[in-house]
Amino acid sequence: MTEVNRLDVVIVGAGISGLAAARLLGGRGQKVLVLDKGRSVGGRLATRRIGGGTADHGAQFFTVRSPEFKQVVDRWLAANQVYVWANGFSAGSLGGVEHDGHPRFAARGGMNTLAKSLAADADENVIFQVNVTVKAITLTAEGWTVQDDAGNSYFSRKLLLTPPVPQSVALLGDTINQLSAADREALTLIEYAPNLCGLFVVAGDVLLPEPGALQRHTEPISWIADNQRKGISDGARVITAHGSPGMSRKYWDRSDADVLATIQGALQPFLAEGASITESALKRWRYALPTVLHPERYLLANGVAPLAFAGDAFYEARVEGAYLSGLAAGAALA
Ligand SMILES: Cc1cc2nc3c(=O)[nH]c(=O)nc-3n(C[C@H](O)[C@H](O)[C@H](O)COP(=O)(O)OP(=O)(O)OC[C@H]3O[C@@H](n4cnc5c(N)ncnc54)[C@H](O)[C@@H]3O)c2cc1C
Repeated sequence: MTEVNRLDVVIVGAGISGLAAARLLGGRGQKVLVLDKGRSVGGRLATRRIGGGTADHGAQFFTVRSPEFKQVVDRWLAANQVYVWANGFSAGSLGGVEHDGHPRFAARGGMNTLAKSLAADADENVIFQVNVTVKAITLTAEGWTVQDDAGNSYFSRKLLLTPPVPQSVALLGDTINQLSAADREALTLIEYAPNLCGLFVVAGDVLLPEPGALQRHTEPISWIADNQRKGISDGARVITAHGSPGMSRKYWDRSDADVLATIQGALQPFLAEGASITESALKRWRYALPTVLHPERYLLANGVAPLAFAGDAFYEARVEGAYLSGLAAGAALA
């Protein structure tokens, strides 16, 4: 096993970008430690149990455009880990599903299983530690010192930061001033929209068009999906409903109960006669989707020991974009 204090690279964040980077770096013989504050790897590839069922409450599906990501997805397809859920979603009507030719893939057991499978596949040079919240990062003569909130320190020559960029910048504290002015400016330009995500356990039917989801970009509740019809929640009907960026900003400071009541109001017309909501939960994603992106796949900082930033804010704001960003940043650090 790799000694935690003799590392080549520390990666903060085990979302899909951090996982992609870790696998690449591990495969190139680098000793890598990946730290994540979550209870499991995956970040916004998030799945949870509720009311005897299962729901994806971060990313809902993914698409594939690049040969690099296709390679991984082909492996998942061969292992029956993922499947084509739809080729498009209705924008509102119960009948009219728009097929645009892009398959939307879902993961058996929920999107988080993909993160777990990427982590399980990584080279033995890669160590994953979850439930570790990084709280400060400092620059030393040899590289980087990363401190967690339990008082542990980790030392490495190279550092990769994959949390949403404002969080990565905050971790650097005053060290950010040692980056070039151009890098600092590029990082501060990046912006995200929040997302308020309601989960609702329903006894009875929910009237949603094929394949059990609606995607309505112009409505305050922009996404409604039935996880049972999606195929990941045999035990109970669990609905995932997302506020649009505008709705999520507007209601961000309201109480959980207020937000859930508002989302539930929008869901009501879809409940079949006699159906009722038996349980609900709210997830707040402060940095859900990047709205102003960096124009390159990663940022390699100038003027300090090797330090890269990666994630879905770099070039392409989706699961595939985050994966490709992690790969590119990993290659740059290797
Ligand atoms: C509600 C929602 C719906 C979405 N729907 C879709 C979709 O349908 N299709 C699609 O392609 N994309 C979708 N996305 C976007 C997709 O989920 C992301 O693009 C992708 O998962 C981002 O991966 P990442 O590795 O860049 O970041 P993350 O997954 O956010 O990973 C960053 C990691 O850093 C960790 N971290 C942060 N701070 C610290 C710290 N101080 N110490 C330790 N660890 C830390 C976090 O715990 C997290 O695991 C959606 C996102 C949300 C929120």
